Amino acid sequence: MKNKCADLHIHTIASDGTFSPRRVVQEAAKKGIHAIAITDHDTVQGIPEAIKAGRDMNIEVIPGVELAADERGSEAHILGLFIDWENKTLQDALKNLSVQRVSRMKKMIFKLAQFGMNIKFEEVLELAKGEVIGRLHLAQVMKKKGYVEYIAEAFNKYIGDRKACYVSRYKLSSEETISLIHRAGGVSIIAHPMLLHNDDIIIDLIKKGLCGIEAFYNHQPKKITEHYEKLAKDYGLLVTGGSDCHGEGKDRILIGSVKIPYEYVERLKKYRESVSGKNIHC
Ligand code: AMP
Ligand code: FE
Ligand code: FE
Ligand code: ZN
Repeated sequence: MKNKCADLHIHTIASDGTFSPRRVVQEAAKKGIHAIAITDHDTVQGIPEAIKAGRDMNIEVIPGVELAADERGSEAHILGLFIDWENKTLQDALKNLSVQRVSRMKKMIFKLAQFGMNIKFEEVLELAKGEVIGRLHLAQVMKKKGYVEYIAEAFNKYIGDRKACYVSRYKLSSEETISLIHRAGGVSIIAHPMLLHNDDIIIDLIKKGLCGIEAFYNHQPKKITEHYEKLAKDYGLLVTGGSDCHGEGKDRILIGSVKIPYEYVERLKKYRESVSGKNIHC
């Protein structure tokens, strides 16, 4: 079919989105998107339901995951696309990451209490429908209880990176993250690269085996997209794009904001075929 399009970065309730996997597929169908990647933080729990819904609604569902890796003290988000989500090593590593999030959440709640915010761990846990508990759940509770007006305000004032109530979470190194994705048959992609504010970090990741870059991202100025397309060209990287939709978990619903031509998906598949059987390293 001509003019097929894709969104290769979407979250579900398995991590910090508010849409069930089936609902994500329904929303994709409504927006005329033909292929989606489910890329929850630190979990693959949402994938089976999405694949089943995709079969029912004729939407291609690409299994994925989003991992935060430590690179030069910065948090680099790396997507694993086309992963074998049943891979035992991957599942064990994800389990460990999600367990570590619990104590980190309790520390952030403790810090917020010092700012007069009375939040119980159970209130945050109630919003986390899967095994992953994170800052977006916490921000939603802060908003519900009237401590902030907007989700963005919770991050800007309290729990955003390096803000007063932020606590970093346990992360694998970038080498470990990229190798985990590759060993599970996935293609490693640096997500929302502009949030790194430093292309040197991307160059380092390329040296460690990174395969691609998410050049297309929601509400991103065209100039920035072009910058990353050029970087991809210069370094022989694959290009992807996605909305990073979290349902209603952010201040707006983002699915439909990014639709990349299906040719990008074909290139990813071709690349994956070309390395299958080999221990992939770009
Ligand atoms: P965590 O994995 O618990 O560290 O939380 C990360 C989540 O918070 C991801 O969904 C991010 O997109 C979201 N996030 C990080 N910074 C911001 C921000 N400034 N505004 C809104 N969401 C954010
Ligand atoms: Fe998220
Ligand atoms: Fe991210
Ligand atoms: Zn994301």
